[in-house]
Amino acid sequence: MSKNTKKPYPWFLALKHEMKDPDKIIESDDRIVIIKDSYPKANYHFLVLPKEDIKNLNEVTKDHLDLLKHMDKKGREFAERIAPGRKFKFGYHAAPSMYQLHLHIISKDFDSPSMKHKKHWNSFTTKFFLNSENIIEQLEKNGKLNLMSILQAKELLKSSLKCHICKEAFSLFPKLKEHVHFHAMSDS
Ligand code: AMP
Ligand code: ZN
Repeated sequence: MSKNTKKPYPWFLALKHEMKDPDKIIESDDRIVIIKDSYPKANYHFLVLPKEDIKNLNEVTKDHLDLLKHMDKKGREFAERIAPGRKFKFGYHAAPSMYQLHLHIISKDFDSPSMKHKKHWNSFTTKFFLNSENIIEQLEKNGKLNLMSILQAKELLKSSLKCHICKEAFSLFPKLKEHVHFHAMSDS
């Protein structure tokens, strides 16, 4: 990255800034903002962020239940509007790398040039990906979230590679990418 493009804040705060940039906002209301993921890991990949300052799921309490439901609803409506009938996943990473809570809206093809590493793959296809509906259900039932430790989450990123559709195992990531591209092409 050249000096001119260097941002005046650390990389892990980028989402907090981007979500306030009118050029980046695709949609917003009084409680949330939707932006495009800058390094999409699938054909369609967006983020829903609350306007309220919430670092991550560790800061979420039962008082946020309605907000999480709203993020989920807006995410699903958005996905259906931009790609009607397409299959999506909606959820949170168990150990997010960036601050400000964000709900991933991601199409299930996972076929994208930015899907570059095993850890990227496993972050969307293993239990590292916490489905939005399960998070909401947990908060509704227990009044709090029982989250895995960072250590447990990081172990999931080391899981062996497996196709999310036919479950075929792969030892090399480029081979899995080719395979997933083939699924995406035959689906479209
Ligand atoms: P997480 O691992 O859940 O913290 O995911 C952070 C997400 O933010 C990743 O999917 C990144 O591709 C995405 N991302 C990183 N930097 C930016 C940025 N400046 N604007 C939009 N999305 C970004
Ligand atoms: Zn497959």
